[in-house]
This record gives sequence, C-alpha cells and structure tokens, in this order.
Amino acid sequence: MDYQNSIEFAREQDKLDPLRAYRDKFYMPHADKERCAYFCGNSLGLQPRSARDAVAQEFDDWAKLGVDGHFEARNPWFSYHEALSAPTARIVGANESEVVCMGSLTNNLHLLFVSFYRPTKKRFKIISEGKMFPSDRYLLETQAHFHGFDPDEAILEIVPRDGESLIREKDILDAIQDNADELALVFFGGVNYFTGQLFDMKKLTKAAHAVGAIAGFDLAHAAGNVLLQLHDWDVDFAAWCSYKYMNASPGNVAALFVHDRHAKNFDLPRFGGWWGHDKDRRFLMESGFRPLEGAEGWQLSNAPVFSMAILRSSLDIFDEIGMPALRSKSEKLTGYLEFVIDSLADELPDVGLEIITPRDPRQRGGQISLLIEGRERDVFDKLTAAGVISDFREPCMIRLAPVPLYNSFEDVYIFGKVLKQILTEGPDTQ
Ligand SMILES: *Cc1c(COP(=O)(O)O)cnc(C)c1O
Repeated sequence: MDYQNSIEFAREQDKLDPLRAYRDKFYMPHADKERCAYFCGNSLGLQPRSARDAVAQEFDDWAKLGVDGHFEARNPWFSYHEALSAPTARIVGANESEVVCMGSLTNNLHLLFVSFYRPTKKRFKIISEGKMFPSDRYLLETQAHFHGFDPDEAILEIVPRDGESLIREKDILDAIQDNADELALVFFGGVNYFTGQLFDMKKLTKAAHAVGAIAGFDLAHAAGNVLLQLHDWDVDFAAWCSYKYMNASPGNVAALFVHDRHAKNFDLPRFGGWWGHDKDRRFLMESGFRPLEGAEGWQLSNAPVFSMAILRSSLDIFDEIGMPALRSKSEKLTGYLEFVIDSLADELPDVGLEIITPRDPRQRGGQISLLIEGRERDVFDKLTAAGVISDFREPCMIRLAPVPLYNSFEDVYIFGKVLKQILTEGPDTQ
C-alpha cells in the first residue's frame, strides 16, 4: 500500500474503511479533549457501548427471578458459558468443544500445566521466550519448583542474539533439537507482549511434537488480534485473557483451549471442581470426579455471569465482522503507523526513533514497539498529556496498538503530528 503522511490521506482511508462504523460502537476515553487517540488496546481494550445493556439484563433477571435465574433467566446462568464457546472458537480457530471461557489467564495456565507439564527426571525442560510477560515467568518458575526442579535448569529462555531485539525462529528450532531428549514443553507467548513479535505457532508445535514434547501458548496478545488456527496447527493447549484485544473489561473472565486429541483423555492429571464434572450428575452432589469431555472438563466453578455478559457483547461484535476482515484492516493500520514513524525518523535523523517490532506483517500483530534513544519516558508523558494514550514498559519501550475495531487512520496521523511536535521541542531542560 502507498501511504502518505497527510490528514487528507488518512481521512480518505477512513472513508474507504469497511469497518469505520464500528468505532462508534465503543466509548472513546478522554473524548472531551480537543485531540485524543487511544493506542492502548493491547493493555486494556475499550468498552463496547452494548456492554451496559447486556449486564442490565442480568441485573433485571436476578432481581425478578433470584435463584430461578439459573434455569429461567433469558440466558440461563446454568449454561451461560456455553453460549460463549462457539464465538470464542471462531476467534482462535478451534472446535467449539476445544474452548471454554473460565477463570483468569494465569490461573488457567496453572491448571493446564497440571495436565500438560508432567516432567520426569529425564524430560523436564521448558523452552520459552526471553522477556516473557512476568506472570508467565513466575508461572514457569513456580511450576518447576513444584515438581522439584531448579528453574534455572528447567527453563530455557531463547533470547535475541547480541545486538538484536527479536528472537530468531531458527534459534528456537535449534534449541528444540538440541534438547530433544530432555524437553517436556515448548511454551511461548503467541505474540510477545514487549516487542510485538508474532511466532509461527504451527512450526513451533510441529517441532515440539517431533521430539516428543508438548506445545502450549499464552495468547493474551494474540487472541482477537491475529489469525489463529489452533486446531489445525495441532497446538496442545493455550489460554488467553479477554480484556486486551477482546475488549471485555479489566480482569474479566479468561478462556482456555485444549485440543480435541486430549478431549477424552481422562488419564490426564487435573485439578477438579464441580463445573468440570459430568453435567448430568452435577447436582447429585456425589463423590467421584468424572470430568466432562473437552475443554469444559477443566472448569472449576460456576460461571461469573455478569462478567460474561460483557464478554458476550464484545464477542457479538467479533462475530459480526469476523477475524479475516479485522486482520486485514489491522495490517493496513499497523503498516500506516510504521510508515508515519519511519517518515518522522527520516525527517529527524538525530532523534533516534527505532521500531523494534518486526517489519514483516506476517511476524507481528497490531502493535508497534518504539525506542526513542533515552527519551522514551519523557516522550511518553508528553504524548499522554497531549491526549495520545500509549503504553510505557520498563525500562524504555513505548508500545502502540492501533486496533482495527476502533482506531482510525486519522488517529495514526494525529499520533505522528503530536510526536513530531514533542520531538522538535527537544528534551526538558529542567
Ligand atoms: C496480560 C498478560 C497476562 C496477564 O495475566 P492475568 O492472569 O490476566 O493477570 C499474562 N501473560 C501475558 C503474556 C499477558 O500479556
């Protein structure tokens, strides 16, 4: 695509955008400011306007029905989560039986590790990415400890080579080969939260399986962002949260995926709860845990209906559009952000603007991570003061997520304009 860094170009693209109407389906924060642009959807997605009514309906049913709402609410609470499985499966490329909305991301991963990280003296290593999201790192450390291993020996982090910022796929594949006999698990973020690097999950899964290891992914930054085919890629397990690209509100209910290959494997160790127990016998209150087939068999507790009502309103929007159309706009929008930053870098060569995220659209989702030589914090604060909401990660990364559901080409243009103003004013001298 031929981009131009001009307001006319940006507005023309917005006019041509088949998804332009969806922006109005979300509340835009700080909309009272003269200029505002929200690029933080990879940290907290925006509120769908329909969410309030979805929750209000459950408030009404609870008021009118009390406990009878479990079976008589317009969306019966007993089976509320079931309605979320099909649209969730469409987002991640799974069969309906392979996904369930439940719990929270880190909780779900621990539950999945109970089943899928079963190290032996010989096979105990986990290959993962350097600069993991801290919660994932703590997950790995404590899981290793739990099984009696030293995390430093069990966890093999693949890091960028000296002088580079991204992880080379070859280095991951080589590490899998080099540790073939000792490898229990390959566990990666599908999209790395820090750099925005998208990994080839199909290839990593195949390589893991070829040496007899399991492949699992944290899709916090991938679900609702990039095209996923978890079933066809033969991924063993995955989990993700719903409050980033999926816009379901802070800390809201998460989801997990277990491949149908494992659906009926009741020999897998797991931690049980009544909601994962045989549906027909759930209320018999008897002993003897009999897990449900498929992903539902990992559930512990009854569904948080109010939270799920918000998620449901967001899933409806995803279903209306479909991931291919979202991804298509996301690539254009992210490409435009890259172009605007590159134009600025050309104009202001001394500033040290550097894009860390992969240049190849196939190796990234809707995110650009940016360095501005020593001025990241200062620039980030000034962007925020000017109404451009981005995200700062220690020690020095500015992350920007142009989200196809609600960001426009004009937002990207505004970002470039504000950034240029900040950079040409020079650093604070105080
Ligand atoms: C956002 C994020 C988390 C957050 O975990 P919660 O359990 O939802 O608090 C974990 N891992 C990754 C990779 C994330 O991006």
